[in-house]
Amino acid sequence: MDSSYRIDPVDRVVSVDAGWIAFAEANRAPGLPQRTIGRSIWMFVSNPIVRELYRSVFRRVRTSQQRVDVPFRCDSPEVRRFMTLAVCPADAQRGTLDCQVTLLREELQPAAARALYEAMGVGASEWHVVNALTVCSWCKRVEVDGWCEIDEALERRPTLLTKPVQPITHGVCESCERIVLVALH
Ligand SMILES: [Zn+2]
Repeated sequence: MDSSYRIDPVDRVVSVDAGWIAFAEANRAPGLPQRTIGRSIWMFVSNPIVRELYRSVFRRVRTSQQRVDVPFRCDSPEVRRFMTLAVCPADAQRGTLDCQVTLLREELQPAAARALYEAMGVGASEWHVVNALTVCSWCKRVEVDGWCEIDEALERRPTLLTKPVQPITHGVCESCERIVLVALH
């Protein structure tokens, strides 16, 4: 499920590769490539902190013409996916960038995490929120007395499973902000 896409100097998607298309199809979004090409990638990134982190990475790669690698998580209710985003200069003159997404490894979600996802009614590719729980958009940890994995959140606050489902607030935890900033140095 490795995939890549190219963006132009004003961050519009120029092209997506076969891996990207296969991923969209696997996630029941077969028309997505047509709806994505020519669009600003910022249409797909709603969280302002996440946008700022991406912007910092793009700015750095365009300025230095050096590749930047950032680890992130792309979890579903069943699996934890440890991923890397590599942003590479594609064409220095044009200012285009290649964004390559690589799956490093997968782990099954612990039972407690699956139970919590189920209680939240979260679909495989959607993120809703429970009890105004803040989820880090980057590493998928949640904020419950500090940042922790979702199964640990349940240990820390068992009532999470009994309260009504609410939409999730996305943020970025301090350590991910640091990871991105460190990747820029
Ligand atoms: Zn994080």
